[in-house]
Amino acid sequence: MSRAFGIDLGTTNSVIAHLVEGRPVALPIEGSPIVPSVVLYTDGGAVVGREARNLELQMPERCVRSVKRKMGTSHRYALAGRELTPEQVSADILSALKHGAERATGEPVRDVVITVPAYFDDAQRRATLEAGERAGLHVLRLLNEPTSASLVYERILAPEAPSTAEPEILLVYDLGGGTFDVSVLEVFHGVREVRATAGNTHLGGDDFDDKLLQLFLDELKASQGVDPREDIRAMARLRRLAEETKIRLSADIAVRVREEFLTRVEGKPIHLDLEVRRRTFEELIEPLLESTVALARRAIEDARLEGQALSRVCLVGGSTRIPRVRALLEEAFGVDIHEEVDPDLAVGLGAAIQAGLLTGEPVERILVDVAAHSLGMRVIGEEDRLGAEPDTFAPVLRRNTVLPAVRVEEFYTVVPQQERLLVEVFQGEAPRVSENTRVGAFDFKLEPRPASSPVRVEFAYDLNGVVKVSVSQPGTTNAKTVALSVADAGKAAQAAREQSAVERKARALLERLAPGPRAELERLLGQYAAAEGSARERAEEALLDFFLDHEAEPREP
Ligand code: AMP
Repeated sequence: MSRAFGIDLGTTNSVIAHLVEGRPVALPIEGSPIVPSVVLYTDGGAVVGREARNLELQMPERCVRSVKRKMGTSHRYALAGRELTPEQVSADILSALKHGAERATGEPVRDVVITVPAYFDDAQRRATLEAGERAGLHVLRLLNEPTSASLVYERILAPEAPSTAEPEILLVYDLGGGTFDVSVLEVFHGVREVRATAGNTHLGGDDFDDKLLQLFLDELKASQGVDPREDIRAMARLRRLAEETKIRLSADIAVRVREEFLTRVEGKPIHLDLEVRRRTFEELIEPLLESTVALARRAIEDARLEGQALSRVCLVGGSTRIPRVRALLEEAFGVDIHEEVDPDLAVGLGAAIQAGLLTGEPVERILVDVAAHSLGMRVIGEEDRLGAEPDTFAPVLRRNTVLPAVRVEEFYTVVPQQERLLVEVFQGEAPRVSENTRVGAFDFKLEPRPASSPVRVEFAYDLNGVVKVSVSQPGTTNAKTVALSVADAGKAAQAAREQSAVERKARALLERLAPGPRAELERLLGQYAAAEGSARERAEEALLDFFLDHEAEPREP
């Protein structure tokens, strides 16, 4: 069988991926692996992706976006003198992905796995299959999107889960540009089942952009008495600016927004100039984010876990890059939040893994270096008693963040004219610093300001276990950077080093063995895991001997 590909046919963006040496890779289509699901119909044919999206403003009457919302309905698009079904528009997107991938790999693309939302009904699934056929593809399988994302996370986290493991319950939280989906999945012995889903088909990044757009409009009205809502071009620029600002606020605590010559009023040019703080943005979107958490809770209830506990949350969708999303999920569910995979690619990469599994390609473990522990600061929290030493831990860079990484947070001075700030850095997961590990500390002299003035703290964490802590006072030139050394930098690389090839082989053998030898191998594996130094070498030799003796053992009847 020829090689198979995985396709995430998304509402806003699509991705096509395949396996390279057993690991999923998204293919660049016209320079980017993320292809906007926008189609422009010209007299010459269909144009798909970035170019179509760029021309959409000029030719909205010739463009289709979000066709996925119409799949399985009798809707018809009237474009460029033609009538088009949603299946045909989706087929045009799939066809562009197919040809793009053929150009990128030099191989024919025929066998594919296409992902669909878990809640898609029969008509929507049949429409997707038909779109695939029309694009000249052979659809090996339709795969639920959350299941697809979980396949990638599994390859990172527990590629060789022992056969005795308990079923795992995952929450896949997918917040994209225009839709929100949450699913509860049970994974047991490699079998994945979607236990419950919930969502909102009209909630996502676009709504967050709208909030900032409204903020800009309010500012123009308040400062200059201008209302550009009738000016289509000005509104398009403001909307783009809103999205850019939102994305920049994921990486910084404040963004200066400047747009000149936005419009003209009575011959006078109008400019926009304001500062947006991350905190302001978070307050604007908080009710929307809370509604996603409520839906996640509902999905958990519907899944009837009956004593089983949620083991982790996997993040999917571009909007999960907003730091507040992760913080809220951590508060709500108190379990590990995983974001090791690019949230825009997770579903497509999972589809490539599924395609590989179906065609018998070997699938390897994915190595990602992540922070083994959260890093943060000592702050005064609500539970701290007046007069006593504050004991609250405020994480800045959270566990499982892909390294190297930079994270920025805002803190506030306590007293008026505060003269100094003791920056104390801790590592750990406990809410109290006294239960975490102290990494280091330094003094930062402050310019006198009123109480509750902001202080910007940046943590830049590299793969060598060095964290550069930079503190600055917004509105002043006052800044200081100190490098601190942190033990246990990368978790994944470390785990990979620890799990030798011999151990991997021995683990793969476990399932094939009869109970007697299996118990013996489990004992040897336990010994190996506990051993250090030269004892570890001896334990590894014992494992290897066992493996060589039992390698050819027949499968248990
Ligand atoms: P998706 O539909 O999964 O491709 O997600 C697209 C959405 O993610 C759009 O609304 C983007 O503006 C948003 N997005 C992408 N990157 C970021 C970021 N760094 N911070 C916040 N939102 C982002």
